[in-house]
Amino acid sequence: MTARVLVVDDILSNVKLLEAKLTAEYFEVVSAFNGLECLAKIDEAAPDIVLLDVMMPGMDGFEVCRRIKSNPKTAHIPVVMVTALDQPSDRVAGLDAGADDFLTKPVDDAALFARVRSLVRLKMMTDELRMRETTGQSMGLIDPASALMEANTTGRILVIEDRPESVAWFAGALQPGGHEVSSVDTFEEALVRVRGGDYDLIVVSLGMRGFDGLRLCSQLRSLPEARNVPILVVVTDGDRRKLNQALEMGVNDYLTRPVDKNELVARVRTQLRKKHYQDRLRHNVQLSLEMAITDQLTGLHNRRYMTRHLDNLVTTAGRSNKPLAFLILDIDYFKSVNDGHGHDIGDEVLKEFAKRISANVRGIDLACRYGGEEFVVVMPDTDMSLAYSIAERLRKSIETTPVVISRAPGKLNITISIGIAGSQGEGDSADALLHRADQALYSAKRNGRNRVVTAEAA
Ligand code: GH3
Ligand code: MG
Ligand code: MG
Repeated sequence: MTARVLVVDDILSNVKLLEAKLTAEYFEVVSAFNGLECLAKIDEAAPDIVLLDVMMPGMDGFEVCRRIKSNPKTAHIPVVMVTALDQPSDRVAGLDAGADDFLTKPVDDAALFARVRSLVRLKMMTDELRMRETTGQSMGLIDPASALMEANTTGRILVIEDRPESVAWFAGALQPGGHEVSSVDTFEEALVRVRGGDYDLIVVSLGMRGFDGLRLCSQLRSLPEARNVPILVVVTDGDRRKLNQALEMGVNDYLTRPVDKNELVARVRTQLRKKHYQDRLRHNVQLSLEMAITDQLTGLHNRRYMTRHLDNLVTTAGRSNKPLAFLILDIDYFKSVNDGHGHDIGDEVLKEFAKRISANVRGIDLACRYGGEEFVVVMPDTDMSLAYSIAERLRKSIETTPVVISRAPGKLNITISIGIAGSQGEGDSADALLHRADQALYSAKRNGRNRVVTAEAA
């Protein structure tokens, strides 16, 4: 893994030492000697992780961390506090400032590399999501997810532990924070619960009597339902091998026994905040994907999506020798609706027309707004006579039921013309099909409008 590490310490020899260790493992190292320089370097060098000394003259490490984490542009960068202080209360102060982890001086190599690799790997997943979200934003599709530090910090927590007194301790420590805590004590039941449940955090004890928590973590990491759920492991102090294995496996955070209650609460809060932030990002990415293929006014698919999809449908129909019908629908004299009642009333008519189209076609039919007041419907597995009767039914429903509008005269009579073409089997193309349907529509317009014409008859 290549990653850029920013090392921050006011003592040159400390910087040099970490730099040597990290460079030997092929990390790229950037350094800073005080808080302000650190913030400037983050801007300049976009590091993947920051190793931050706590005690520095001027701005101390806690304050630097707080600033990194409260800036939406830098909050996603993991920060590891490197400190001589190793009391739980020091860690809680760091976690409150937004720190992701701690290393105690003198820094142990194995711990250093395990933390850096694990945090950088987790960051890369978020980076991918953030990038896609940014694209959605720049296309004007979505609003950004609220900042990391503003995300919700309560959630549904599953504790996996088979010693009743320990389960009770976790529940007692976490419930006052407003979390919904449940627990499970066997391997099989844990998998079942995680598959079926919608958890925000899983706490796994690595000191269980009945089974190996680490083996469970590895299984959880490969479950699609748990891929986005953070795992916090609880390991016996000093069991470095287990801890490093867990980090290697992709667990998100850890606590050492005896567990300090405040530290547990702070670590849980950090993990939940990240989880909710990522959920938000993922939701936004999904939303922007949907919006990119949806017509904003009517909610139908847009032309881009239809064009892309029609190619596939025509090819599939040709190969499987199945019929495929294609309808183009166009409102008659729509320009006069706009001219006589205003563009906004025109929009109301378009929305209602889209609704009626949707109501008259099947789920597998693809209805789209092709542009302006033209719509298309692609109907797989539908021959021309069936397509004709569906089109006729739709035409009649528009003719006989006026569209309700929000201004006088309260409703409008409109009519539509429809052109239909059918797939001609192998060798046919989306373009050719579209062209034939368009010709049929043109013929319907020429012959008086308010009618359905098939390509054969055009
Ligand atoms: P025809 O019977 O030949 O189809 O006549 P028409 O007036 O419906 O057709 P024409 O293509 O001349 O005009 C289409 C009109 O549709 C022109 C344009 O202002 C209007 N239009 C296109 N997109 C929108 C839209 O999103 N909202 C509204 N309100 N009007 C639109
Ligand atoms: Mg028209
Ligand atoms: Mg038109």
